[in-house]
Amino acid sequence: MDGLMMRIPLSVPELIRHADRCHGDTEVVSRTIEGPIHRYTYREAHRRARRLARALLRRKVGRGERIGTLAWNGYRHFELYYSVSGIGAVVHTINPRLFADQLAYIVNHADDQLVFFDLSFTTLVEKLAPRCPGVAAWVAMTDAAHRPAATLPNLVCYEDLLAAEDDDYEWPDLDETSACALCYTSGTTGNPRGVLYSHRSTVLHALTTCLPDVLNLGAQSVVLPIVPMFHVNAWGLPYAAPLVGAKLVLPGAALDGKSLYALFEDEGVTHSAGVPTVWLGMIDYLKANGLRFSTFRETIIGGSACPPAMMRTLREDFGVDVKHGWGMTETSPIATAGVLKRKHAKVAEVDRTAIREKQGRPLFGVEMKIVDADGRELPHDGTRPGNVLVRGSWVATGYFRGEGGDVLASGGWFPTGDVGTVDPDQYLQITDRSKDVIKSGGEWISSIELENIAFSHPEVTEAAVIGLPHPKWDERPLLIAVRKAGSTLDRNALLAWFDGRTARWWIPDDVVFVDELPHTATGKLSKRTLRERFRDHRWPASTRTAEEAADARADQPRDMRA
Ligand code: ADP
Repeated sequence: MDGLMMRIPLSVPELIRHADRCHGDTEVVSRTIEGPIHRYTYREAHRRARRLARALLRRKVGRGERIGTLAWNGYRHFELYYSVSGIGAVVHTINPRLFADQLAYIVNHADDQLVFFDLSFTTLVEKLAPRCPGVAAWVAMTDAAHRPAATLPNLVCYEDLLAAEDDDYEWPDLDETSACALCYTSGTTGNPRGVLYSHRSTVLHALTTCLPDVLNLGAQSVVLPIVPMFHVNAWGLPYAAPLVGAKLVLPGAALDGKSLYALFEDEGVTHSAGVPTVWLGMIDYLKANGLRFSTFRETIIGGSACPPAMMRTLREDFGVDVKHGWGMTETSPIATAGVLKRKHAKVAEVDRTAIREKQGRPLFGVEMKIVDADGRELPHDGTRPGNVLVRGSWVATGYFRGEGGDVLASGGWFPTGDVGTVDPDQYLQITDRSKDVIKSGGEWISSIELENIAFSHPEVTEAAVIGLPHPKWDERPLLIAVRKAGSTLDRNALLAWFDGRTARWWIPDDVVFVDELPHTATGKLSKRTLRERFRDHRWPASTRTAEEAADARADQPRDMRA
């Protein structure tokens, strides 16, 4: 028997329509590429999004067609999110930090009809245009006064498009399962692959992530996504903020500690989201200048493991509650969030901290399991690591145009490529990406755990641990670290820091100090680059491992065997 309830499709334009109706005077503030701070309201954003919708339709953009963006977090990008999806087309956010070859591949693979770009990407677009003949026009996201002097076929200015249109447009009825947005994974191996979100998955993800145990957003919040709108839709914040009527602050291209801090203070930011590397810059700036936040109180950190030492600094020194989140492009991206339960009020502070440091428990709408190399399900005992699989309403079933074939495991589970433990309360702890796991003497060593220990050393600013071939143990960990300016920390002192902090046989065999570590287009440590760079690294003649591992191995838990 059917329930007697209205069947109104979940759709992206409904979010901005709701914000206009119920939070019409709430502000959207942007640091523009042209310079000044721009501010307007959800009502005005909605009006302009409808004008842009008309402009897109005038250019014959059809349902399901892709429209590319190469843009920072700003109000015009925000309008594009709504107008493109709102007419039933697909907003394709392109990560400008990718290599030129990958960018050309992505634009052509997506078959983008138009590409909208911020002025900072004019040179990039000039190089890209000859390689992307399918793009009918390149739209500079600016006004006529700032029109770039670029040699581009069919160059148009965003404000000129809008100026020609009325805002008397009604969003059409859309099938909630139809596509609304497209985002390519960075393709650490092989070509990038497109993840195609639907209106339904996007709205459900936005709804759930606003909950107190996730982003904790409401109409009193002021949210500043540091994570770019070209990286998994800024983790859904441009959808979640209008859904609850939170004030939205968009930082543009200025992601350094000083510019961000100014915006946090000037706009009264209460909530944020970003990868660990951006917080490094922010913390350095605050410490160097003796600054504190006046309004900022919580953030979600994810995209790569947030080192416990960073969480502690933010909480204890700056009063910011950090929620550790985990997910991937294929999971929209938020799948888990690390927030305590009521019963944890009774446990010791040290244990509470340990729980918060895990990647968290699944949101409603996401299911999770771990399996061994043969696909057998492993217990959720918090100690045995396995391959993490997920299933849920905002998890991908495959990639755009069928790239990679049938990716789901039996039962419709998505294999994440991550390795982790799950405890009886369902808190996930990621120990590695499967390709980064260090296999030593048939056992697994977690590079993330070793990086966290190195990072907790007061003189280390960043650290990466990779597995390199070893004649006796298959692989052994090499620690590559960046020292604080002026530090004279040496190899032995840093290795001594691991004593008592991890199993002896996990302690890296060698340390290399570098001035900086390579990062991927999404701000993560590029371990592939490091593995290539240190491929010929020579282990010290006599390593502590060779001497100690034999007896230490006797302590190894047998259930850690791969
Ligand atoms: P890519 O890095 O390939 O561009 P994603 O941004 O989708 O793609 O990255 C997803 C991956 O990032 C996850 O599979 C996981 O390995 C890693 N990741 C995300 N959040 C965390 C976290 N909190 N802790 C550890 N790893 C994380």
